[in-house]
Amino acid sequence: MTPEQLIALDQQHVWHPYASMDNPPPAYPVVSASGVRLTLADGRELIDGMASWWCAVHGYNHPHLNEAMHRQIADMPHVMFGGITHAPAVTLAKRLVDLTPAGLDKVFFADSGSVAVEVALKMALQYWHSKAQPNKNRMLTIRNGYHGDTFGAMAVCDPINGMHSLFASVLPQHHFVDAPPMGFDRVMQEGDLAQLEDKMREHQHGIAALILEPIVQGAGGMRFYSPQWLKGAAKLCKQYNILLIADEIATGFGRSGALFACDHAQVKPDIMCLGKAITGGTMSFAATLTTSEIATSISRGEASCFMHGPTFMANPLACAVANASLDLLEQSDWKSQVAGINKGLNNLLQPAKALAYVEDVRVLGAIGVIQVTQAVDLGIIQKMFVAEGVWVRPFGKLVYVMPPYITSPQDLALLCQGMLRALKRYFYQLDQASQPSALK
Ligand SMILES: *Cc1c(COP(=O)(O)O)cnc(C)c1O
Repeated sequence: MTPEQLIALDQQHVWHPYASMDNPPPAYPVVSASGVRLTLADGRELIDGMASWWCAVHGYNHPHLNEAMHRQIADMPHVMFGGITHAPAVTLAKRLVDLTPAGLDKVFFADSGSVAVEVALKMALQYWHSKAQPNKNRMLTIRNGYHGDTFGAMAVCDPINGMHSLFASVLPQHHFVDAPPMGFDRVMQEGDLAQLEDKMREHQHGIAALILEPIVQGAGGMRFYSPQWLKGAAKLCKQYNILLIADEIATGFGRSGALFACDHAQVKPDIMCLGKAITGGTMSFAATLTTSEIATSISRGEASCFMHGPTFMANPLACAVANASLDLLEQSDWKSQVAGINKGLNNLLQPAKALAYVEDVRVLGAIGVIQVTQAVDLGIIQKMFVAEGVWVRPFGKLVYVMPPYITSPQDLALLCQGMLRALKRYFYQLDQASQPSALK
């Protein structure tokens, strides 16, 4: 099949994420990926700024990850998990328990981030049920959140970004408060937590858990907020007898500068969701961790068990490569890598602040965000990024990168410079097109 045929068939038959099937823009065929580079079918190489949506933290085609998968395939790529166990799962569970905040001792493996969130919500509901408080069956969350695309997860996503109106008749109704004020370094001000506390006070007997993305709100707005706010929210949860679910699917494994974003605030959630980078960007996999107290209580409840069990639960291949990804994290100095990218992003994205169509530039850990004044046209701007030799995938007004941790200073410079050049060209053309002379 030629690349042209592939693109044509793709447009005809294959749905892409959040994409229209009515005359969709052509997708770029990628034939291989190595390090921080994606190779297109026509031979062009792109420097990847997305780490395949937070996942490929060690870069692509890493020999240690590949080897772990090859070895596991030779033994057994999969076996059911009901009544059976295996070393890759047990080893991984123990390592996750050791790495995550204290108290998270029980691990439920799932096959994607959204499922890990469903599992977390279910755990919270089953916990209160087992405590004879079944009325604690609503979630509390903050606006601008993103927790996945399945129904349970969608119901706690931002109501506007998540298009709740479209699904209003079937979505469970939860409690929302405004997102925390922006800024990792923001000094807490009186009233920053007032809305949250009011909601908790008013509805404490009906709220099972507060679910949020700690410190970094990802797909719901790429916003950063302060560890003090998180710490305060965790304290309020205790005070009002509400569980805290930390969705670390995007932030886990170092992305925000701490191994887990909760670590910035020394917060110990009752339930934590992990995903995305857990397999170093190789396979779909996720985990939900909780405390012994919650696990035991659920197990002594009406059902005598936790009511969930995916077919591909604890898939050995995914567990093996997750273990290998943890090896790499432990062996590499991820903290300095992330700090290096942080410094690079701060310098390289600085010039964007002066541009008229740039509203805000923010950097945290290995995440760099340029917020522009109006939503970009993906079909047009994507072409411009590719022409610059970089892979950047904006959404709405947010043009952002979260590159693999192994990105060298040289490649980071190429990535950011390419991104800025494309952005300038895009807004220049937009400006030209809006001039009356261009309409003649
Ligand atoms: C991506 C993401 C999810 C959903 O994970 P999937 O693997 O896409 O189902 C949930 N929560 C957060 C914070 C995410 O970034």
